[in-house]
Amino acid sequence: MVKFPEASQRLFRNVFVCRRCKTKQRASPQKALKRLLTCKKCGCRAFRAMRKGKKVAK
Ligand SMILES: [Zn+2]
Repeated sequence: MVKFPEASQRLFRNVFVCRRCKTKQRASPQKALKRLLTCKKCGCRAFRAMRKGKKVAK
C-alpha cells in the first residue's frame, strides 16, 4: 500500500541528470525546480529528471 503516490516515484524523481555532462545527482525535486541544484562536475544548472526510463541513453 502506497500512502503517498509520490513516494513510489521518489526513487526516480530524486535523481537528476546534468544536461551537459550527464552526471547523476540526487536532490529534492523542489530544489531542482528552483534551479538551486548545481552540478558538482561542470557547475551548470541545467538538470533534467531521470524519468524517461524507457529510453536508455548511451
Ligand atoms: Zn554537469
